Amino acid sequence: MPKEILDLVAQTRKQLEHLRALGVDGIRIDVKPSTDSADLRIKPPAPVENIPSEPLTSLFGDIAPAPAKLTPSSETFEQIHTEIGDCTRCPLHLERTHVVHTEGNRKARLMFVGEAPGADEDAQARPFVGRAGQLLTKIIEAIGLKREQVLIGNVNRCRPPGNRAPTTEEASTCKPYLLREIAIVQPAVIVVMGNTAMKNLLDTREGITRLRGRFQDYKGIKVMPTFHPAYLLRDPSKKRETWEDLKKVRDYLDSHP
Ligand code: URA
Repeated sequence: MPKEILDLVAQTRKQLEHLRALGVDGIRIDVKPSTDSADLRIKPPAPVENIPSEPLTSLFGDIAPAPAKLTPSSETFEQIHTEIGDCTRCPLHLERTHVVHTEGNRKARLMFVGEAPGADEDAQARPFVGRAGQLLTKIIEAIGLKREQVLIGNVNRCRPPGNRAPTTEEASTCKPYLLREIAIVQPAVIVVMGNTAMKNLLDTREGITRLRGRFQDYKGIKVMPTFHPAYLLRDPSKKRETWEDLKKVRDYLDSHP
């Protein structure tokens, strides 16, 4: 190979290593066929903050990872519920009466996810049937739907004693079953209610007050964080913001039939 080319390769490698040391993961390569030898000259690197984030090619030739998307699932809810069985995988089994599974329309375009069953749900083996659940039903009806048309579930399926929030370990033991149900149904929108549901689905450290009302993404599914209905029972002034959030959900569903 001519020395000029070898020098060019060496300079390019040095430049790329320098960029990598600066923390740059990728650069955009615009392939422009040219016979002009002047094009072979190395251009000064773009300032780091100007490097576009998409599309990315890694410094070493791999394609940058595409955003994760849900793969279709051939499982059924029944298979998942059978697998969960009389679960003893986390300490919450010690004080629960029933395992409370996700319920509702398995072809739903809208899903609601809460934290964990309370006393009423534990007694009846159904999610959101207590006071918070009755408010949730009203919220669903306020956007023109019936409860039977949506899917309703929780991060944890067993009631934490005294209605405390599930621990990180308890949540991460139970959450995979919820995620498998989401993969089966692939709703257009998931409303996560309260911090526990939001943090578990979105893997974020942000709080609900900061993220509520703004669509987020879970593997290609729109996620709307909003306040938990139990919180609305304690502070009814927050109903107005919740209504704003739900109107966005209704508008999104109406405009994406
Ligand atoms: N609160 C929740 O988070 N889930 C329920 O099912 C009931 C109350």
